[in-house]
Formats: sequence, C-alpha cells, structure tokens
Amino acid sequence: MQPIAAPLLQWFYANKRLLPFRQEPSAYHIWVSEIMLQQTRMTAAVPYYNRFIAALPDPAALAACPTDALRKLWQGLGYYNRVNNMQKAARIVCEQYGGELPADYAALRALPGIGDYTAGAIASIAFGLPVPAVDGNVLRVFARLYNDDADIMTPAAKRLFTQRVLDQMPKDTPGAYNEALMELGALVCIPGTPHCGDCPLRALCQGCAAGRADKLPVKPAPKEKRTVPVTVALISSEQGLLLQRRPAKGLLAGLWQPAAWESALTREQLQDALQKLGIPAVLGESLPPAKHVFTHRIWQLGGWQGTAPAVPLPDGYVWAAKSQLAEIYPVPNAFAAYVKPDADTPKL
Ligand code: SF4
Repeated sequence: MQPIAAPLLQWFYANKRLLPFRQEPSAYHIWVSEIMLQQTRMTAAVPYYNRFIAALPDPAALAACPTDALRKLWQGLGYYNRVNNMQKAARIVCEQYGGELPADYAALRALPGIGDYTAGAIASIAFGLPVPAVDGNVLRVFARLYNDDADIMTPAAKRLFTQRVLDQMPKDTPGAYNEALMELGALVCIPGTPHCGDCPLRALCQGCAAGRADKLPVKPAPKEKRTVPVTVALISSEQGLLLQRRPAKGLLAGLWQPAAWESALTREQLQDALQKLGIPAVLGESLPPAKHVFTHRIWQLGGWQGTAPAVPLPDGYVWAAKSQLAEIYPVPNAFAAYVKPDADTPKL
C-alpha cells in the first residue's frame, strides 16, 4: 500500500466539519466528545456536548457533580455506566494528576472507561502523541483500502489493522491523521455503499479497485437479542408521578423510572403488585405498546396508567412533581413513550 497520509490530510483540512470540540481541542473536550460519540451520531451529540461542557467545564467540576445531576446531564444519551466511569476517572485525574488529563497513553488507558480508542484519540489529538485511534470507522476504511476479508471483530484483525494505521501515520501530525481517518469513515467511506467518487484515497484503494468495497468489512452475524416483557404502572397522585429507583448495579443502574416489573403482568397482577407496595391505585386506560432496544435485549413495554392517593412510599419510591422530573430525576429513554422528562409529565 502506498502512503495515504498526504491526500487524506489535504482532504481533511478542506472538508472537516466545524465541531465545538474541534474549536478548542483540549484533552477534556476530546474525552467528553469521544465518549458521547461512541453511542450517538455527531449531529445529535453536539447539543448534549455543549450542555455538558457548559455545566461541567473541567475534570474538577465533573468529579464534584452530584450523581443525579450528572445523570440528568447525560439523560437522552443512554449507556449511563459511561458517564459514571467518566466521573470515577475525573476523580482519579484530580487526585493523581492535578486536575488535568495526563499526556501519556498508558496512564490514560488505565483510567476507568477509557479504552484503546479513546486513549488514542485523546493522546494524539490533544497531546500530539503518535498513537493510533482505531474505531469502527477506521476499521471499515482499512478493510476496504487493503481489500481485506478479515473479520474486524476479532482481536487478531484489530491488531493487524491497528498496525497498518500506525505504519501509515505521519509522525508530525498524528492527531490530524487519526481525525481524518474517522472523518473519512463518517462522511465518505460510510457503511453500506461508500462514496468512492468523492474519496481522496480512491486511486490507492484496493477494495474499490476490486469492485467490492460495499462487501467490506466482514463482520460476524449479530447475535439475536432476548425480548423481555416489561409492565409499567404510570401512577399519578396529587404530589406527582410515582417513580421507582432502579438497583444500584446492572442495567440503567440507579436511574429513576415509572414503577415497572420485568414480566408480563395482567391488570389484576399489577394492581396486586402496587397494593403490596402500599399503593391503593385505581388503574385506568392501558398504555400503548412500546419497544426499547438495548445492546443485548429488547424491552417490550406495556401497562396501565392510573391514579392513587399520595400515600407515604417505601424506600426507593417517590412522588415526583413536574419540576422535579425536569430537574432532579433522570428517567431513561427506555420510558420515553410514557414519560417526557423535560416537559409535561406523564406524556400521555
Ligand atoms: Fe472507502 Fe471508496 Fe475511499 Fe476506498 S475509495 S477508502 S472504499 S470511499
């Protein structure tokens, strides 16, 4: 393979998107943006990024942020364990590195929630260190460039592709090179059918020359997800909506949700379950069916709305007034069909 850096960088400087974290690419800004972009498209992530950085402008602010306020800032992005890990890492950064992310790949990699890719992105873009940052975009570009059928999910293929990325890296501009590869994967060498006609690497690309770029990269068939029924009780009292705190560990750990059971309850069973909590609810209309897809499972949601007197609640349950839902209690997107967190509540 001939060197790709020169045409790639020329294209990147002329075509890169103007993004908030590119205007001031500090290590903290790169870190926050990369964690958000692991789960969200760039255009959707920008408002979340701006809001997050305005509220928590540096690692010290992130380290000190109360848990619910932090989850509230992350609400809508999902994968809450990522922001929990960011806070753990920020506390270590404050304790061990004086509040600044270390300019050292191994030290970054050792922080909670920072993997090879994120450490590489921070180290190369913020600190100019010559380390690769290989994500799905970059693997796709390299599988096509080298017309390589290796399964990109295997560690051996990742190692090989990472070495190729490193071999092609210009040692004076590692950050721009890594960003350029990501940007090419996001804008031109996209999943499905790539825009080879617009690509600065077309003349070098073996996959394109072989007419099989759209067949690459090779990935294993996705595993089937388990479907789990969830019965929701959307109960209102004069003090607000009934919310339940999820367990401290596991899926959506520590977040707040309408009272819900991970099984398909009948109306009578739901009434009994509420009664056992000491809540004499009167159930009304059924909730429309909804679905939420997680990485490994699918929730099939349904249930009933209802009313109840504002009785005292057991531990882990609250009556949440509208303003508290908007400002205090982070409700995961999985319940978006029933609870609109930032406005009127409940949604129905
Ligand atoms: Fe991707 Fe096409 Fe460019 Fe090759 S020529 S890197 S397949 S966009």
